[in-house]
Amino acid sequence: MTQHFDMIAIGAGSGGISAVERAAEYGKKTAVIENNKLGGTCVNVGCVPKKIMWFASGIAETLHDAGKYGFDVKVKNFDWRQLVEAREKYIKGINVWYTSYLTDSNIEHIHGTARFVDARTIDVNGEQYTADHIVIAPGGVPTMPDIEGSEHVMTSDDFFALEEQPKRVAVVGAGYIAVELAGLLNGLGSEVTMLLRKDHFLGSFDAMLRETLMDEMLGAGVNIMPRISIEKINKLKNGSLTLHCAGGITLKGYDAVIYAIGRTPNTAALNLDAAGVKYDKRGYVTADFFQNTNVPGIYAVGDVTGRAPLTPVAIAAARRLSDRLFNNMPDRRLDYYNIPTVMFSHPPIGTIGLTEAEAREQYGTAVKIYQTRFTAMYHAIADRNQRTAMKLICVGPEEKIIGLHIIGLGADEMLQGFGVAMKMGATKKDFDECVAIHPTSSEELVTLR
Ligand code: FAD
Ligand code: NDP
Repeated sequence: MTQHFDMIAIGAGSGGISAVERAAEYGKKTAVIENNKLGGTCVNVGCVPKKIMWFASGIAETLHDAGKYGFDVKVKNFDWRQLVEAREKYIKGINVWYTSYLTDSNIEHIHGTARFVDARTIDVNGEQYTADHIVIAPGGVPTMPDIEGSEHVMTSDDFFALEEQPKRVAVVGAGYIAVELAGLLNGLGSEVTMLLRKDHFLGSFDAMLRETLMDEMLGAGVNIMPRISIEKINKLKNGSLTLHCAGGITLKGYDAVIYAIGRTPNTAALNLDAAGVKYDKRGYVTADFFQNTNVPGIYAVGDVTGRAPLTPVAIAAARRLSDRLFNNMPDRRLDYYNIPTVMFSHPPIGTIGLTEAEAREQYGTAVKIYQTRFTAMYHAIADRNQRTAMKLICVGPEEKIIGLHIIGLGADEMLQGFGVAMKMGATKKDFDECVAIHPTSSEELVTLR
């Protein structure tokens, strides 16, 4: 017998769970379909394990600095396996928590792969389910390179499955994941080479951020090779990998090659055509700012829309969708403008709003830039002299802040509050009116001249 729901979400990741969770709060009958672990990418192979590894890498840096702070610390060993076990135990706990949370919230958890039969019906393992509202939230998977020897390539998913620390690693890619994994592996003692197809990584970020990070990573020992393109990967009998690159360049002796070149929407199994849902040639589902697809009653949230693929974006869009559908809030939707984001690099980056280049293109001479560069007090004593850099981008006579960019110790925890201020339309004067907190790095943002 076909079971009917008010709302079904496909995918129990950040977006899918949030949609049905909010709908259930409004008393609606809901189900979430998942063919893997509860929590999706963020919990299992994304934000959570990445952040644990970033913390570990930060501890390695702190241990390195401890001597200058008067501690006689000798690091005897770093046990990768122990770290991974602790990390996975933590994640398992989240998975288990989700199971009981869904039960307690009266959300039915359907195990298996969802496939549309028509615009109201979904098949999972031969059982059919119908709903008035269907939320497509299947996320994405790492994009694989189309090169000879790609079977020797690791993705971020494979990285999180590693039981041994790779000693000599090539990281290919120029976005969030490549930068974060290269940074944390380097911090934990692996020898890391980043291979970029262009001159820089983080091409869409403000130039100050990417140039400062590039300098810091080079200074920390990451080998960064720009303008290089791998054509073929060979695995030797001893397991070592050789990279054959364009222009006859050969790079040898890697025990891991990690590709982080973007993600592909997870729509192949969904049979979207049966429901008549439109998607683009890369597989991203076309959705408007209210998350509506072209088919009434079918919505898309999260990475599958190709719009700001971040966990809090998926969550916020999904919750607002259920508010709109079930709580009489017809205008409720996520404002995709001014979304703060953090890169868990070494040092971290916090960024929101327009880059300087974007601002100048949009507002020309009405743009005024305030910036600073300094050494955070922590590094005044430590051996490692990491730089902090900050930039405020203002526009018009009232100097409304339209871009805020920070790289340096603490940037990750600094940004959220400034994000609130920017969302409220803060001006440079508003920042100046706020009394500084001393001694901190963030005080520089309210004292810029
Ligand atoms: P997902 O979380 O991917 O969930 C989709 C779920 O749908 C999956 O569980 C999948 O198994 C399931 N599914 C797919 N197809 C079907 C089907 N046909 N039937 C049943 N189930 C299906 N974002 C941040 O904000 N901060 C970070 O620090 C951060 N770090 C990241 C680090 C890495 C390495 C990666 C890969 C991503 C990171 N992200 C981060 C991005 C973040 O993880 C995603 O934006 C977020 O998980 C997207 O949520 P989603 O609900 O769209 O999809
Ligand atoms: P990104 O889209 O961030 O970056 C991928 C980059 O890799 C491209 O922009 C491109 O840069 C480069 N690239 C593409 N194809 C190739 C190729 N064939 N060879 C070499 N380089 C290539 O993707 P990621 O996989 O890093 O991350 C996916 C998304 O996950 C991110 O956009 C982000 O939204 C989210 N995420 C968020 C995190 C956070 O919030 N801290 C952390 C991790 C992921 P170029 O054109 O310059 O070469």
